[in-house]
Amino acid sequence: MPVYEYCCPKCNAKFELLRPASRADEIAICEHCQSPGHRVLSTFATIRRGAGGETAPMGGGAPSCGGCSATSCATCR
Ligand SMILES: [Zn+2]
Repeated sequence: MPVYEYCCPKCNAKFELLRPASRADEIAICEHCQSPGHRVLSTFATIRRGAGGETAPMGGGAPSCGGCSATSCATCR
């Protein structure tokens, strides 16, 4: 479960909560004054999102055609 950072507008405190992504944007209760706080985007969360959206790695040798596992058959390239 990811960690999200929240900010309390009343006492200006920042706190983190462990909750499912589906509830990330819900109001979080401040642990200091019990006021409703809103989510802030921390650099930590941004980094995690970038790492999770990666596609297949580049490179890895010469591409082969779809019909064989070799890289130099008659139908390659
Ligand atoms: Zn507070």
